Formats: sequence, structure tokens, C-alpha cells
Amino acid sequence: MPPGELIFRERAVVTGTPLGEADLPRAWDCLSEVMDPEVPVVSVVDLGMIRAVEWDSDHLHVKVSPTYSGCPATEVIERDVEQALIETGFRNPRIERVLAPAWTTDWITDKGRQQLRDYGIAPPAVGEGRDTLLDPGPAECPHCGGTDTRRISEFGSTACKALYQCRQCLEPFDYFKCL
Ligand SMILES: [Zn+2]
Repeated sequence: MPPGELIFRERAVVTGTPLGEADLPRAWDCLSEVMDPEVPVVSVVDLGMIRAVEWDSDHLHVKVSPTYSGCPATEVIERDVEQALIETGFRNPRIERVLAPAWTTDWITDKGRQQLRDYGIAPPAVGEGRDTLLDPGPAECPHCGGTDTRRISEFGSTACKALYQCRQCLEPFDYFKCL
């Protein structure tokens, strides 16, 4: 946490000064530090889960799209988002779950894709012709960049991922399935 962040939070908590409409950029900064519990290096912002951050008369209104529907992490993420906003100084933030349009892996930012790769997870393919959740195809090895890979299991460390092995460096890796 940068030093200014702590001072800022202390002011909000100690003096009870609630944040307002002018503090929307603070809300985005705050959300960019809320990580996906299943991929703790990628924020909910870089996963493309935050659809909108708005000010609604006296409270912050945040629209969140769950990633994979039925993903058990969804409720954890919504609680984490609410908690982080309260700690930053927003009173009574309202978190709205937005199901339509449905989240797609295309919403993951370039930064998020690189963070997945750095973490050892192959990011999902982008655009048309990509593979589906149920039938992931070849994936690029996040360790050596090799494309000669094979799927070992339909499910990796979580249901959202498939387990692959690289034939070039022989390392196993998770592939973040497309949706
Ligand atoms: Zn490899």
C-alpha cells in the first residue's frame, strides 16, 4: 500500500469524512486492488468484471458482472469489493450483479492477460474461432511460449481452467478457458 493511501484511509475513518461523487477515481483505484480469489494476481478491473462505477445521490453504485456463471468465487468477490470500498471511505456502497450482457473472456484487459501469463496460466484466446468452455483447443505455453501443447484434463485447479502440458518444456500449466 502506498503511504498516501494509509493517510487517506485514516482521514476517512477517523474524521468520518465520507467520500463523494468527486472521489470516483478513488473507487477505481480501490477496485484495481481487489483480486480474483482464484487468480490472486489479476484484479476484478483487469478481469473486466466492473461494468460501471457511478454516484447515485448519496452512495456509490458499482455494477459487477460475474465471470463464469455459477463460479463459487462470485459472492466472495462481491463481498471483497464492498469491503474494499468501505475501507477506502465510501459509505454504504451498493453492489449490483449484472448478468446481461454476459461476461466474456474478451473483456480481460491486455494487462490482465499478461498477469495471467506471468502467473503461469495461459490466457484465453480472443475473438472469433476461439475454443469454447467445453472444448478448449491448443493453448500457448505460458512458460516457454511453445504451441506444441496437449490437454491433460478438462479441469485444472478450478472448473474455469483446463490442465495442459507443454511438449517443448514439459511443464504442466492451467489454461483459462474461453467464454
Ligand atoms: Zn513450454
